[in-house]
Amino acid sequence: MKKIIIRFFYIVVAFIAILVFRANTVFLDQQLEPATGITEIAVDEQLAVQRFSKALTIRTVSYDERSNFDADSFIKFQQFLKSAYPLVNENATLTIVNDYSLVYHLPGSNPSLQPVLFMGHMDVVPIEEITRGEWTYPPFSGTVADGIIWGRGSVDDKFTVIALMEAMELLLAEGVQPERAVYFAFGHDEEVGGKDGAASIAKYFQDLGIAFDYVMDEGGAITEGMMEGIDQPVAVIGVSEKGYVNLVLTVNAAGGHSSQPPAQTAVGILSRAIVRIEDNPFPARLDFMYMTIEAIGVEMPFTTRLAMSNLWLLSPLVKRTMLKQKDNAAALRTTTAATMVSGSPKSNILPTRARAVINFRILPGETVESVEQRIIGLIDDERVVVTTEYGFNPSPVSPVDSRGYELIAKTIRGIDPDVLVAPYMVRGGTDAKYFYPLSHNVYRFMMLRIDPDTVGYLHGIDEHVAVADFLEAIRFYYHLVRQSMGG
Ligand SMILES: [Zn+2]
Repeated sequence: MKKIIIRFFYIVVAFIAILVFRANTVFLDQQLEPATGITEIAVDEQLAVQRFSKALTIRTVSYDERSNFDADSFIKFQQFLKSAYPLVNENATLTIVNDYSLVYHLPGSNPSLQPVLFMGHMDVVPIEEITRGEWTYPPFSGTVADGIIWGRGSVDDKFTVIALMEAMELLLAEGVQPERAVYFAFGHDEEVGGKDGAASIAKYFQDLGIAFDYVMDEGGAITEGMMEGIDQPVAVIGVSEKGYVNLVLTVNAAGGHSSQPPAQTAVGILSRAIVRIEDNPFPARLDFMYMTIEAIGVEMPFTTRLAMSNLWLLSPLVKRTMLKQKDNAAALRTTTAATMVSGSPKSNILPTRARAVINFRILPGETVESVEQRIIGLIDDERVVVTTEYGFNPSPVSPVDSRGYELIAKTIRGIDPDVLVAPYMVRGGTDAKYFYPLSHNVYRFMMLRIDPDTVGYLHGIDEHVAVADFLEAIRFYYHLVRQSMGG
């Protein structure tokens, strides 16, 4: 008996030794060397802020209801870019796609080099009328106060558009001669899916037969205090994004008066289907989370390293822990959200039709089709008709060893060597998803520092950005664009 206990003791000790050994050896320092030559730039800070502020006063709002579209604002924004950035307009060719989206092309001296594409979007989300009074400054005033620039679009995404234009204007003022062609593309309907803007721009490039060395859009940012146990800022670069589908569940039934109901009404049948879907969430996978953690693993606290380096043993425990947090869960699985439901219009009338919309955000590896098939199987009830209302598949995953990724990562670290860089999967959707046919290397990043508070006001009240962040972004794009133009 004693021998067995001793043997068991040795086995446990050996196991612990393996776990600890792996925790201390699996993760290696993957951070790239900061880019050299990241000088200060000769930007007129006051004028740059003034132009940004002006851009925020133009109400380029995207509404779900397309009839609310205000064409004049978008034309006004075009004219603003034209007058504010004369050198860009003099040196680059402007093509207008679908009346409102803009493509700037600065040709390169070496046509054998694939061009690079920098993207942004000019439209912003609307203000919820009932919250208008809660804004510290009116949302379209472009107020600059105490080192902060306020207004809808100050982050998402006029921040990108204006910082890019400022950077290009500076480069041209210095007489830069690109070897590799550079394109800027600014969509006008990202916030409602990008069909008229980015999708048409992508088609325009496809028709020209252009393939890009890399494509850069909004998406990631420099996170501060958002990675547990890591003190340094972490820049996350989006290398992939989830897919999206709305499945509509419909149940048709005989109507009639509610005083003589059947055992199950259309609403009852529909509800049962929804419960089955919610009770059977999609399986969780750790590979996308791991992709991020692998890049910064050395800097993580011991317990995280212990868990993440020993997924061979601990993955069920890690999954269970991570799924308890909504934001982590979204990175681990295809999410399910029942969002809309309707039945009879009156309390004493039996519904002839009950309808629900379930929104799914699809993890790469699954498709619109596979999600639909799984849901039909789960419901297992022919009375519930499942149709796809709107959907697109998850994007491929772009590599982290391409020239583009390395340029972005090194430039971030050239600006601030304390920042760690890691790839990640974008949970929402961006215009970048349309550009995979044009390049394998599609990345999403904004040179912007965000913390847990920032996330709340992105599409909400009091969207704002620090003047310092805006200037840092101009400097970032200046160096990134300049280096990207090279051979
Ligand atoms: Zn955006």
